[in-house]
Amino acid sequence: MNRRSFFRASATTIGAIQAGLFARADTTPEINTVLGPIPAGNLGRVLMHEHVMEDFVGADKIAPGRYDAEEVFRIALPHLKSVKALGCETLVECTPAYLGRDPGLLAQLSQASGLQIITNTGFYGAAGDKYVPRFAYSETAKEIAARWVREFLDGIPPTGIRPGFIKIGVDAGPLSEINAKLVSAAAITHLQTGLVIASHTGDGVAAMAQLSLLKKHAVHPSGFIWVHAQNEQNTSLHRRAAEEGAWIEFDGISEVSLGKSVAWVVEMRQAGYLHHVLISQDAGWYHVGEKGGGSFREYSLLFARFLPELRKAGLKESDVRTLIIDNPRRALTLSR
Ligand SMILES: [Zn+2]
Repeated sequence: MNRRSFFRASATTIGAIQAGLFARADTTPEINTVLGPIPAGNLGRVLMHEHVMEDFVGADKIAPGRYDAEEVFRIALPHLKSVKALGCETLVECTPAYLGRDPGLLAQLSQASGLQIITNTGFYGAAGDKYVPRFAYSETAKEIAARWVREFLDGIPPTGIRPGFIKIGVDAGPLSEINAKLVSAAAITHLQTGLVIASHTGDGVAAMAQLSLLKKHAVHPSGFIWVHAQNEQNTSLHRRAAEEGAWIEFDGISEVSLGKSVAWVVEMRQAGYLHHVLISQDAGWYHVGEKGGGSFREYSLLFARFLPELRKAGLKESDVRTLIIDNPRRALTLSR
């Protein structure tokens, strides 16, 4: 049994035990949603990078009780229901710990909306390290990884909800010491759990630096999602990272960036790398600390406007399927 099938089997076993389904014998890869593991084939149409809530106060000040979860629920629910009505079946919620991650709230929203939601483990080292908890500076990468692996095995306290991917973040340029440590911790966690690493990445230099560090840890590039690849204007770097096997995520699709986002996807398709592209909007979210959560950017643009634009630009129905069904499923399971 190679490492991948071992972790797939162990993850399935843990999921089966949690669900009380000891009799289950299949080894279909499973993905942890906030309501429990599901077969990867049930993910359906996926938004790979969105947010329900964010709290930008910083790791040193964040605390439970800074928001009214009932209000967040009331405000986010209609947006989740609308995107589900447009055909979305799974939403990957990318808010990390110390930035407003609330798996219990996501579980309630998943139940009420019928949308499958996936949460994460990891720390966010971008934005000048404002969201990195103090203890991460004194702990080793191994110790940090042990925390994330524990969340994968036992669930995120106090909920028991298990993460479906690793979310980290790094600033632009060469990796700082703490950012490199987070990448190493993600690598160790990936090797022990099979969870894919989605990294908020400042630019192409930072993307390539992460890929080479991951390789030193013997992590295959297919276990890495270059989040915010649209921040790098030198598209040859997108192709180079895809050539190595990484996932290139154009996740800033909005009214303003619609045309440019279409061009990026078309360019990757022409270069033969559509099988490495992920798309999303980085939309939402309830802003903790703002009255009524501030302005909430809806999740519907990708389905309502972007996919029709892609079809107009020559993408076939099978290409659209690749982008919103097959690639997300492969990205979330390939490394298990
Ligand atoms: Zn984001």
